[in-house]
Amino acid sequence: MGGGRTAAAGTGVAGPAGRPAAGAAAGPVLLEIRNLSKRFGGLVAVNDVSFDVGPSEVVGLIGPNGAGKSTLVKLIMGILRPDQGSILFKGTDLRGRAPWDIVNLGVAGTFQNTRPFRRLPIIANVMVPCLAPRGRKRGEWVKRIEVKARDALEFAGISDLALEPAYQLSHGELKRLEIARAIATEPELLILDEPFGGLNPTESDLLAKSIKRLHKGGRFGRLHSEGMGMIIIDHKLSYLLQIASRVLVMNFGQLIASGTPDEVVTNPQVIEAYLGKEGA
Ligand code: ADP
Ligand code: MG
Repeated sequence: MGGGRTAAAGTGVAGPAGRPAAGAAAGPVLLEIRNLSKRFGGLVAVNDVSFDVGPSEVVGLIGPNGAGKSTLVKLIMGILRPDQGSILFKGTDLRGRAPWDIVNLGVAGTFQNTRPFRRLPIIANVMVPCLAPRGRKRGEWVKRIEVKARDALEFAGISDLALEPAYQLSHGELKRLEIARAIATEPELLILDEPFGGLNPTESDLLAKSIKRLHKGGRFGRLHSEGMGMIIIDHKLSYLLQIASRVLVMNFGQLIASGTPDEVVTNPQVIEAYLGKEGA
């Protein structure tokens, strides 16, 4: 499996001469993934993957279905345990930690499929992920969480739905709810798995605007988005490539390329493995 390879070699593709190592973020590191592997029986879903994400950096992750993208983010979020490799977030090893501990450390994400508490009101759906104890008194803590949840709903553009039960929401609204739930926890690293999946062009435009706003930083309510790094997986490259400053490409569990959007879309290996088939 090439377990001894370095991070740079693990990315497989060199950028134009003189550029930094393909898988490495310039400057300080927020997330550092090294030689990460995950097997399901005989299938190596994530195979010796190494890359970095810098603070405030937006990294796109693309690749054909089954490439291992969702498995990779589930490893980071503590939903799955890696067989091999390390995941350092601001120098802390995330391996073996519970998902709620990882949220408390500052990593939050959304999954490919929306999973609301269908009978709970939207506002409660957003409050639940913030409930992991952080050593505050319960009464004041719940009030604080409600304020944060309202800010997050406003940011996601669904504050008018706060008291509706989740089952009333459209698919596009549910996608926004998932993002509100993630950002209400005030992450430093936000991971979005196919946020544009199933959205129509109008909904996609709105979401792209929200994501750009999140990345730009500044204030929304009491939430600070400054410094939020992101990993965004999506097949809708027209959106992803305008948002991400660097793109990683996976195929059969391996990272096959990393570079700027321009470098990646003109990379023959990427065209063969992914773009050609998508007709992009
Ligand atoms: P992607 O998100 O890139 O489409 P996934 O990470 O979902 O890919 O899947 C990578 C591979 O791992 C696929 O072949 C998939 O069938 C397999 N896989 C994913 N999750 C599981 C699981 N829980 N058990 C067994 N195989 C899985
Ligand atoms: Mg997936």
